[in-house]
Amino acid sequence: MKPRAADDYAQVDEIAWQPFPEALSAGGIRWKLLHVSPEMGAWTAMFDCPRGSSFARHIHIGPGEYLLTKGKMEVRGGKDKGGATALAPGYGYEACNARHDKTYFPIASEFYMTFLGPLHFIEEDGATRAVVGWDQARALWETQTAAAKKTGKKKK
Ligand code: ZN
Repeated sequence: MKPRAADDYAQVDEIAWQPFPEALSAGGIRWKLLHVSPEMGAWTAMFDCPRGSSFARHIHIGPGEYLLTKGKMEVRGGKDKGGATALAPGYGYEACNARHDKTYFPIASEFYMTFLGPLHFIEEDGATRAVVGWDQARALWETQTAAAKKTGKKKK
């Protein structure tokens, strides 16, 4: 039997923001990957979202929980269109298979989120654009942070 999974800790303010891919977002969103859990298929990240930024259309294959720590986030079209408008400090739960056509930030915002399962980014007709689970998130993060490590800016 494999051993117990390891504990983990991240000093969030010492981790540099990385750009979140423009194929999956607009307006300069940045992220920090804090944890991945292969056992759970879960991944946890923070996102820094400038005024007017948004995430591309996606479906949450598994549920997700978020804590909006700063700003305002319009989910599923926002409150006026039957969705949710989160105001910091705000907590939200997005159910399995929640479809988010445009998650929009009308003011500078920041949130923490744990995804239980991948995000399925789709085109308007439902065709797959990208699937981002813990493995893809970790691969992206390692690519983005490898450059910083090479320059000798190791943090321990
Ligand atoms: Zn979403």
